[in-house]
Amino acid sequence: MNKTKRFVIAGGGISGLTLAIALQRKGLQVTVYEQATPLKPLGAALVLAGNAIKAFSEIGIDSKVVSAGKVLKKLTIKDQSGKILSETDAEDVSRKYGVINNFAIHRADLHETLLSYLPADVVQLGKTCVDFKQSAEGVTIRFQDGTTTEADYVIACDGVHSIFRKKLVSNREPRYAGYTCWRAVIDNIPPSVQLDETSESWGPGKRFGIVPLANNRLYWFACINARRNDPEMKAYKIPDLLSSFYSFHAPVSEILQHTSNEQLIWGDIIDLKPLDRFAFHNIVLMGDAAHATTPNMGQGACMAIEDAAVLANCLSSNEEPIKAFQNFETLRLARTRKIVSGSWRLGKIAQVEDPILMWLRNAAVRATPPGVMEKQMKFLYDVSFQ
Ligand SMILES: Cc1cc2nc3c(=O)[nH]c(=O)nc-3n(C[C@H](O)[C@H](O)[C@H](O)COP(=O)(O)OP(=O)(O)OC[C@H]3O[C@@H](n4cnc5c(N)ncnc54)[C@H](O)[C@@H]3O)c2cc1C
Repeated sequence: MNKTKRFVIAGGGISGLTLAIALQRKGLQVTVYEQATPLKPLGAALVLAGNAIKAFSEIGIDSKVVSAGKVLKKLTIKDQSGKILSETDAEDVSRKYGVINNFAIHRADLHETLLSYLPADVVQLGKTCVDFKQSAEGVTIRFQDGTTTEADYVIACDGVHSIFRKKLVSNREPRYAGYTCWRAVIDNIPPSVQLDETSESWGPGKRFGIVPLANNRLYWFACINARRNDPEMKAYKIPDLLSSFYSFHAPVSEILQHTSNEQLIWGDIIDLKPLDRFAFHNIVLMGDAAHATTPNMGQGACMAIEDAAVLANCLSSNEEPIKAFQNFETLRLARTRKIVSGSWRLGKIAQVEDPILMWLRNAAVRATPPGVMEKQMKFLYDVSFQ
């Protein structure tokens, strides 16, 4: 491992910050350039599965992360009337796989925890990368403020709209999943909310998710089938969501009534059709820049955190970073492809609108033997970081 070289991370989101910690712990020189000022996490909250907690543990920061969030006991899928279609005992899964799963955390709390591991000068804020020039010797990055920086190696963690990916991989624009999403975190939780479970309730072409957080807060999300960038959806306020979800079981309406319009975060759900390459000589793509996924399996951030643990190990076991980047690509392509494709399919199933298809889907989910779910969990949790 070459400790005299300069590694630049573009983007200070979950992948950029986790990677910065992992590389610092391997003794590498690293600087993160982040466009935001101040650094604000995008979105509301996250549910992290056991593979993410395993990756945090591989880096050595799991206990502090876990203490900033909430471990939930059950994971339930319901129909719109509240009838249970599938129920997973998360504590049982934890015992079986030896790792915490179904862990919920506010994005701001995760960011704060990650930042607490980094010296202040590692993350440079207000630095928007607008272009780069790559040569055999290194990479020159140009920022919006007119300045430039030189790096020996660059890890692009700049999200689904990555400027690095756009230049390195042509014809790969994010694809729209067909549904749009509202999210919010509230701190006045209606008393009827069950505080030990995450749940998702499926109605016709729409669903509603409920995730209790630490410190008496609640995260919810609502997805509705819609045209891309639909101005009507963009203008939706709480009364519109209340009428869209009026037929859903309690406490969906109560949760919406406890949310203000100002707390709503809206966005279309997009992902990236799986790429064939992440490594481009002295630049490598990571996190959403490499494999943005729909949120249906709750795996986007989990994969980004796994990436950080794997890339740090590749760099510490390879003297030559370009080889390490190739090694990272080999280790990550198939797994991330499988998750992105699985999550895309799950979204199509969850957002079904036709009543007959919904009935068939609900019957199939209810009849799914526990072994099928278990196989999927085994795939997610049996992650290797080498
Ligand atoms: C509705 C929704 C719910 C989700 N729920 C979950 C969940 O429960 N569990 C889960 O695991 N995942 C979830 N995800 C996915 C998760 O949010 C992403 O996978 C994760 O945030 C990816 O992290 P990242 O750091 O790669 O990218 P990002 O979070 O997009 O971070 C990129 C960073 O780069 C910065 N940046 C961008 N461009 C530039 C530039 N040109 N120059 C400098 N900086 C730049 C940005 O400001 C940002 O800080 C969800 C996603 C959505 C949309």
